[in-house]
Amino acid sequence: MLGPALLAASRSPRVRSLVSTSRVSRGLVDRFVAGESASDAVAAVRALTERGLAVTIDHLGEDTTERAQAEATRDAYTALLGRLSDEGLAGSAEVSLKLSALGQALSGGGSSFALENARVICAAARDAGTTVTLDMEDHTTVESTLAILRTLRADFPWVGAVVQSCLYRTEADVRDLAHPGSRVRLVKGAYREPRTVAHTSKAEVDSAYRRCLAVLFAQGAYPMVATHDQSMIEAATRLAAHHGRSGDDYELQMLYGIRTAEQERQVGMGRRVRVYLPYGSDWYGYFMRRLAERPANVAFFLRGLVSR
Ligand SMILES: Cc1cc2nc3c(=O)[nH]c(=O)nc-3n(C[C@H](O)[C@H](O)[C@H](O)COP(=O)(O)OP(=O)(O)OC[C@H]3O[C@@H](n4cnc5c(N)ncnc54)[C@H](O)[C@@H]3O)c2cc1C
Repeated sequence: MLGPALLAASRSPRVRSLVSTSRVSRGLVDRFVAGESASDAVAAVRALTERGLAVTIDHLGEDTTERAQAEATRDAYTALLGRLSDEGLAGSAEVSLKLSALGQALSGGGSSFALENARVICAAARDAGTTVTLDMEDHTTVESTLAILRTLRADFPWVGAVVQSCLYRTEADVRDLAHPGSRVRLVKGAYREPRTVAHTSKAEVDSAYRRCLAVLFAQGAYPMVATHDQSMIEAATRLAAHHGRSGDDYELQMLYGIRTAEQERQVGMGRRVRVYLPYGSDWYGYFMRRLAERPANVAFFLRGLVSR
């Protein structure tokens, strides 16, 4: 129960201020976030690729409230893509975008504005020789995000989708998205969702994850299996063997700083593993979701806060 409570509390400005300014946060943030600058991100990408890992980079930021902020995010992505290309890293590092950071929720045409910003980033990714994946946020954004995905794919067919097995709608979305050449990241879902739209028990979310995986492999999509759950990883590798997929015909994805030994073990077995690498100063929302996923992380963090 700690996870949902923490996600709810994280919306309080007082909690935000306490967590953002605490020195206790810093140590734990460093475990999940690669640093604040593009140079920090590039250095982390280099270190990961030297260990045989691929990367998808997230410039942290969400819930943008001003157009200028969204444009700054867009420009940070295009500059980062230029650097990845210059430093010979674009072959193994792509970027992940949150459309809310590109202005999706702004009134008066936020969706079109986010689409245009995403289009600029996709063009920069194409020029750099890499790809883009659109992260999925809470259920209220799914329809708009999938509409933007469809529009972008007309020009950039390699844009990756993300679907969340916790949502009831996702199995139908997966059937639509799972065609050959379609890059689809399957996650369980990191947002606190009402039971009117989402499974609430872990068992139901896990069963839905397995069903979605089966469809992605069977219908010929390129599955991006994003999970730290060993039983889901094993289900994916069994499906890959069943469908005759080689190690580069699908990929496993895990978050930066989580199960790093397993990331390397999978690479050692010839599988493609991509690490989701966040960087930037706006780490609060991302950090709180990682805490909420694991009671041990929260307990460690709270002990540090109260003992100061
Ligand atoms: C590459 C990647 C991209 C993602 N993109 C999105 C997205 O666009 N939208 C979205 O809603 N969600 C996204 N997520 C988050 C996802 O939805 C889950 O919230 C998260 O992955 C935890 O679920 P799990 O599949 O690892 O399984 P769980 O059942 O939550 O965890 C399985 C095991 O993994 C380990 N573990 C999981 N989380 C943590 C943690 N924070 N700290 C330490 N250990 C942990 C624990 O050992 C745990 O027992 C992404 C996840 C990954 C890996």
